[in-house]
Amino acid sequence: MKKWKNLLAGLVVLALLLAGCSSVGQTADGSHAAGNEQTADGSYAAGNEQATGVSQATDGEQAAGSGQAADGSQPEVGGQPIGEAEGSGRLNVHYLDVGQGNAALLESEGHYMLIDGGNRKASSFVVSYLKRQNVESLDYILISHFDEDHLAGAIGALYQFPAGKVITADYETDSSIYKSYQDAMEKQGYEETHPSQGDVFSLGSASVRVISPISYGHEDENEDSVGVIVENGDNRFFFGGDMGKTGEKQVMESGADIAADVFLLNHHGSYLSSRFLEQISPSYAVISCGDGNSYGHPRQDTIKLLEDDGIPVFRTDKQGTIILHSDGKTISWEQEPCNDYTPGTRTASGDKEEPYVEENNSDAEHCDYVLNTHTKKIHLPSCSSLKGMKEDNKAYYKGSKDELIDNGYEACGNCKP
Ligand SMILES: [Zn+2]
Ligand SMILES: [Zn+2]
Repeated sequence: MKKWKNLLAGLVVLALLLAGCSSVGQTADGSHAAGNEQTADGSYAAGNEQATGVSQATDGEQAAGSGQAADGSQPEVGGQPIGEAEGSGRLNVHYLDVGQGNAALLESEGHYMLIDGGNRKASSFVVSYLKRQNVESLDYILISHFDEDHLAGAIGALYQFPAGKVITADYETDSSIYKSYQDAMEKQGYEETHPSQGDVFSLGSASVRVISPISYGHEDENEDSVGVIVENGDNRFFFGGDMGKTGEKQVMESGADIAADVFLLNHHGSYLSSRFLEQISPSYAVISCGDGNSYGHPRQDTIKLLEDDGIPVFRTDKQGTIILHSDGKTISWEQEPCNDYTPGTRTASGDKEEPYVEENNSDAEHCDYVLNTHTKKIHLPSCSSLKGMKEDNKAYYKGSKDELIDNGYEACGNCKP
């Protein structure tokens, strides 16, 4: 299936290369121009501008609008435009380089959706990026959960762009960034929409299907992440926020169809089970994380799963903003995958928002210790107190006890690990 898709994509690119020179008004960056010039009401300005030759002359603006990273560097542009599809329309997906965090802009037929907004530092970048894309309003702002690296940048968008619906996880928190968010919601007069699995929102020719969470109220708010699969014709794109082990498990148990062509890794390339990856069975993976982030994202065992499966990988920390175009049949990218399977290096000692040890990817049979992530106790796998422990609080850990103690864990007094 993957090979077939790649071959087809190759043929399409080849056909476009051959056709590119002779087609009237379409330059190598024609697809770009169409994307950029498309207005929020769905009308196309590109045709007129191309006829007058104006848009071809605005390469500078185009480059600035389409791929500039937060640090101002330009990404490589290796993609090719795709032709107008018959039947289904186009969907453009921008995985924004917001450093350590997530933010994606989706556009289909003049309809826009922002999925997460990145961290505080990325906020003005996200707003200016959307403006350069000629976004005037957003059909949806989806905030997967209220951690700062997803929420902060979305607050600017709440103030700057009228939004049709603000879709969020159904919980409240007491962080200062959440208070700012509440202020923004109140000032703009928005009500939150809390989706359930199976809900579908339409976005131009695409549809957005909710896959998670199965339930709210997890101890770890990451597990409450609203996850969606965006479908455009035959192409599917997975966005799972910071879903972790519990979320994965619940989604798999729900029996939802989570197959997708492009998998934005959950939680910046943190926990991933091979079973979950198998069910998604992606042709491409995208990792959104900060260069040299202190959390050690992407994790070694996670990135190894991708490498072992030979899944091409794009990374915002290595490549800046990543852009793709779907015509409902094929997906074309504006750059080549970096296929950099180097894991991150964890340098933070104990971080409250995203503690590393709680995400250890080990399982019951192969772990050295069983952790209670709630009480921060380290247990031997044979400890009798494990029987009463809530599944949600349980984490299987392979590695050194010292590292756990560095992260605020204590040995259980019963089993004395
Ligand atoms: Zn999170
Ligand atoms: Zn996050």
